[in-house]
Amino acid sequence: MTKYIFITGGVVSSLGKGISASSIGRLLKSRGLNISIQKIDPYINVDAGTMNPYQHGEVFVTEDGAETDLDLGHYERFIDTNLSSYNNVTTGKIYNSVISKERRGDFLGATVQVIPHITDEIKFTIKNITQKTENQIDIVIVEIGGTVGDIESLPFLEAIRQFRNDIGKENVLYVHVTFVPYLEAAKELKSKPTQHSVKELREIGIQPDIVICRSQLKLSEEVKNKISLFCDIKREGIIEAVDVKSIYEIPLVFEEQGLGDLIIKLLNLKCPGSDLQEWKNMVDKIYHPKREVSIGVVGKYISLKDAYISINEALLHGGIDNDCRVKIKRIDSDKVKKDSLKDLFKDLNGILIPGGFGKRGMEGKIETVKYARENKIPFLGICVGMHCAVIEFARNVIKLEKANSTEFDPETPFPVIDLLPEQKKVIVKGGTMRLGAYPCKLEKNSLALKSYQQETVYERHRHRYEFNNLYQEKFLEYGMKFSGINQDLNLVEIIELPNHPWFIGVQFHPEFKSRPNRAHPLFKEFIKAAIAKSVYSI
Ligand code: GLN
Repeated sequence: MTKYIFITGGVVSSLGKGISASSIGRLLKSRGLNISIQKIDPYINVDAGTMNPYQHGEVFVTEDGAETDLDLGHYERFIDTNLSSYNNVTTGKIYNSVISKERRGDFLGATVQVIPHITDEIKFTIKNITQKTENQIDIVIVEIGGTVGDIESLPFLEAIRQFRNDIGKENVLYVHVTFVPYLEAAKELKSKPTQHSVKELREIGIQPDIVICRSQLKLSEEVKNKISLFCDIKREGIIEAVDVKSIYEIPLVFEEQGLGDLIIKLLNLKCPGSDLQEWKNMVDKIYHPKREVSIGVVGKYISLKDAYISINEALLHGGIDNDCRVKIKRIDSDKVKKDSLKDLFKDLNGILIPGGFGKRGMEGKIETVKYARENKIPFLGICVGMHCAVIEFARNVIKLEKANSTEFDPETPFPVIDLLPEQKKVIVKGGTMRLGAYPCKLEKNSLALKSYQQETVYERHRHRYEFNNLYQEKFLEYGMKFSGINQDLNLVEIIELPNHPWFIGVQFHPEFKSRPNRAHPLFKEFIKAAIAKSVYSI
């Protein structure tokens, strides 16, 4: 029988519910249990794909090509399991499905209402996860986005309330993540907001079993007892989550307080004790690196850290694998100009251009590539970053003046990056890019093959534009290497440059597949090249 853990949040947003859910997942996985994690987002967008990164941060792409909330990235990284489109539910998806059923006549003349039709659909979607995964799932963790008290999340809370009744008390746990603020004037941690938010949950019929208290400082026994008393939660269920330097330490912080064993006890599960040794070693490496490199990430969404969250994490993973701390310098592509280049890039050991959309900041990215190519700085271009590398090569090496992507200049005389004919017909925006995992065959004697050490790899895509094959010969003639090809579709997936220590552009997003305990090969090799560069430059 699959068991369910529902995670809600109270008091304020951005409490790290996603990290809490992921960390609980890791604790349970370390006990040999099969886990899946689902995120429920109460917004009306059907998926995150149509949202600007400034709204909710990065759009995370799963193996099956779903454009999802960035929390799925945390889930995959913590539980080291590939998730799918079924792991992200939105209000939009639920209503879309109910309205289609209504139009089909499935409700046989009934008045279609939030309760029971929407709540039934929500419960079905939560249960359906177990049908959509290969392995038998022991525990599904469901994170409800938003904050308790929001109007939008009410139907979801009602559905999870009913859930416990439907499948039995012993099969469901409620975990509430709250904030315990420190008031400087009173020099005190305040438990009242937590009490109020638990009260709000109880009003709708949910009594949490566990409360995770985020705070800047450690909670005194007195504060914990108070929360226990007023919220009617056993003292062992009051878990503190004080800010730590690395999110990857959180599972260890929880384990130390007995959270893993408590969940096992409350859900009446039988399983071996936890084995977190590998995880501990990994955290130890994060905290005690032997060296340091500085990597510039040049993009246009740099003011919001979450916009490139998987890139940041993958760089960190590459560092872990090389016993190296990676300092990330976020550089606004709009600010990269010929005369500012040297100043902006002077201390960098490597340069990465992440994915992106639209014209703004493009010329700055192209200047960046030129600098990395000419100054032999390790370079990794991802998706639009690869497009920029192709455009730069066309303009400055092959001398195709005004070469461009038709995304940025539809009238360019040399469209070295262009839409495929099937993409030209697309009008509807949602879910219509080339999405999800595609195979890529690697060429012999390439940096790519040296990095991956395997001939065919599967990487996740999210883009419309591609390298224009009409220019293949010209590029080859001038020395560019096409080291990864999708043979079914005849598409260039990886480019690289000889006569450079490490220069790779990839059409896909390797950052989505990197894990803290298993860095993505390209990130691992990129950081290795950056370390070599830092040694040269001393
Ligand atoms: N804007 C480009 C395209 O649609 C690249 C997208 C990306 O970088 N993810 O092809």
